[in-house]
Amino acid sequence: MFLPKKHTGSENTIFSEMTALALKNEAVNLSQGFPDYEIDERLKKLLCEGTEKNFNQYAPLAGNPLLIENLMEFNQQRKTPISVTKENITISPGATYGIFTALASVITFGDEVIVLEPNYDCYVPAIEMNGGKPVFVSLNADFEVNFEALKKALTDKTKAIIVNSPHNPSGKVWKKEDWDQLSDLVENTGIIIISDEVYDVLMYDDREFYSAFHHPKLRERCFSIFSFGKMFHVTGWKVGYVVASPQLSHAYRMVHQYLSFSVNSPAQYALAKYLEVFDLAENCKIMQQKRDFFLHEIKDLPFVLNEKAEAGYFQILNFENMSGLSDKDFSVWLTEEAKVATIPVSAFNHDEKNTGYVRFCFAKKEETILKGVENLKRFFKI
Ligand code: PMP
Ligand code: GLN
Repeated sequence: MFLPKKHTGSENTIFSEMTALALKNEAVNLSQGFPDYEIDERLKKLLCEGTEKNFNQYAPLAGNPLLIENLMEFNQQRKTPISVTKENITISPGATYGIFTALASVITFGDEVIVLEPNYDCYVPAIEMNGGKPVFVSLNADFEVNFEALKKALTDKTKAIIVNSPHNPSGKVWKKEDWDQLSDLVENTGIIIISDEVYDVLMYDDREFYSAFHHPKLRERCFSIFSFGKMFHVTGWKVGYVVASPQLSHAYRMVHQYLSFSVNSPAQYALAKYLEVFDLAENCKIMQQKRDFFLHEIKDLPFVLNEKAEAGYFQILNFENMSGLSDKDFSVWLTEEAKVATIPVSAFNHDEKNTGYVRFCFAKKEETILKGVENLKRFFKI
């Protein structure tokens, strides 16, 4: 039977691969981005409450009205408010789905979509499964955007640009001026911005979060994509939301209607109620403490820290003065021998070119981080 290959993504994502390797080797898993700590008890109770209150049948296509209402309020209360109405918000079954559906709603066969790499692994398969062609533009060595290179990559076939801030894997955050530069670049074109912003609330060192949707011009041509998975540390719930202009939201919902139609109803109830008590500042503080705890513990190891993660779940570290291996081989070796699993940053490049960096997930219990660092210290005799 002939089965066409729908995309160029790997058979097994690097996250599944490294988690499986960690399990096989009984290594501390600092690879895949998922918390191993307990979620807020209130959130667990609210999920039960959702089913008890009979939120057990289909929710409306755009999402539970209370959740949408509370998201409008939440976005209004950000340090830099984002004003949104219910025409702007659609609840999605996770950000991966949101990115796919945003692409599906705007690209047609042969359209080019710019991907800034290193990039998160779902973008390229999602472009290809929708008949598009990914065009790669490398970020600078410090993970800032090279706007000159981006400009050069634009053609009359460019239909969309995917951006990701805060960035996975580097934790780099787009500044207001970056959005201005992007806006200038796409002015007078029909280019859509698909902006993956799943780490929006996990900003460190008092940094401010700027969404594509904050920008007065970009908000007419962007999808800003968020995930409760990272926001509330419930990656397994797979619920997120997509913010777009009424016109783009309409296009999105036209596809969403026939892909999933609606999203897990008791989870939407729980998320809506939890937004009413969610303490954003406290959440940030706890996660920043985790980043700092990780950095403090690894400081005697010979990794090189170029920049602290500005946001998110991950810290990348350079290992080139510890080993001549490629980052992929180094990650496998570290898992098998030192019993600590990481993600090689080359996995975020389409050609898997070695980068000399590995990514550690610090969204873990302190005892997990400590155990990982102990394993590394024992192995490297420090
Ligand atoms: N984008 C980025 C940058 C991610 O790190 C992740 C993983 N949380 C996702 C998208 C996918 O999010 P979700 O689990 O909500 O699909
Ligand atoms: N976003 C998570 C990470 O970057 C992984 C999600 C997945 O396993 N697909 O580690």
